[in-house]
Amino acid sequence: MRRSYSVVCLPGDGIGPEVTAEAITCVNRLGEASGFEVRWDEQPVGGASIDLNGSPLTEQVLEKCLAADAVLLGAVGGPKWDDLPGRSRPEAGLLKLRKRLGVFTNLRPVSVLPALAEISPLKTDRVAGTDLLVVRELTGGIYFGTPSGREGDSAVSTMRYTTAEVGRVATVAFEHARRRRGKVTSVDKANVLEVSRLWREVVTRVHRESFADVALNHMYVDNAAMQLVLNPTQFDVILTGNMFGDILSDASATLVGSLGLLASASLGGKVGLFEPVHGTAPDIAGQDIANPVAAILSASMMLGDLGEVVSAEALRKAVAESLEQGHLPADLAAIPADAVSTSTFGKLVADLAITTLANKQPV
Ligand code: NAD
Repeated sequence: MRRSYSVVCLPGDGIGPEVTAEAITCVNRLGEASGFEVRWDEQPVGGASIDLNGSPLTEQVLEKCLAADAVLLGAVGGPKWDDLPGRSRPEAGLLKLRKRLGVFTNLRPVSVLPALAEISPLKTDRVAGTDLLVVRELTGGIYFGTPSGREGDSAVSTMRYTTAEVGRVATVAFEHARRRRGKVTSVDKANVLEVSRLWREVVTRVHRESFADVALNHMYVDNAAMQLVLNPTQFDVILTGNMFGDILSDASATLVGSLGLLASASLGGKVGLFEPVHGTAPDIAGQDIANPVAAILSASMMLGDLGEVVSAEALRKAVAESLEQGHLPADLAAIPADAVSTSTFGKLVADLAITTLANKQPV
């Protein structure tokens, strides 16, 4: 019997629909070749949902997401909705989705492919060999803490973490480190923030009690930003809170050369959420020039989570091979005229993934 999965796709705004379309093509082609089927249910989120329903995420769409096997998301937001008040903005839909799915851990792998080391704006010898995983806490911290809002001519946002919230994400980070190179760097601002002192205490306790075989060091977030650029190969797993993780993972896009390359998986609830790290890139939307790699690699992480590990790996390899063969989307191509369009790149990757898969099938 064919394996079958129901996936809600939330393309969102800007380049979201363009890049998720390529991810869907790749998944469907792999499904045909390896005997599984994804039943896609496309729904609006963010600005698209505001325009259609007056809200960035409706309860109906949320219910569909909660009932699915996985959610694949593009990105939300754009200048059209920038003047809306906080709770009505496209980003509010995304935060609500993460919170309600209970996906408290966001995994953001960052590795520099040898063929792309020269594309990084940093020196090749500095970035070559970078292979790190940002483990970002996703449903707590300053993006969710209360009180939050305007008070007369001042405004307040609260960074709050509980022991339990820190403990569960720290556990995930240590487990990943065990399967990787055995090192966790926990990033905080414990020299200034009380909430970071709690973070550090809990991470240290989880380490001592259950993961003494993994190496642990602590780093202040300002130093971590500098170290990421100065010496990125020192990192294996970076464990950090919601806002620091948001900022550091964009900084790590500098290492790989483009935000268009970074994928993510948000896990911890019943249903996983898979989305590129980048935003809606309004400056290039609708031109078939966006880099679909982050969306395709997010789909690869989704396939892995659904148990389709062979297809997930074939897709990841196909992306790496396409780039190594010199098929580069506009953000990576040295000569603009040589750039491969979004749709062409998606097709190339799908073709290569099928070939990789065929070579793996027993004869
Ligand atoms: P952005 O990630 O959209 O773009 C930053 C820069 O990177 C731009 O120059 C853009 O052209 C480029 N870029 C991003 N993704 C690319 C891709 N796949 N291919 C090629 N180039 C790419 O960030 P921004 O400009 O700060 O934000 C634009 C909008 O996106 C805002 O409304 C913001 O709120 C939203 N945003 C959404 C998310 C999300 O949905 N997860 C994340 C970040 C930003």
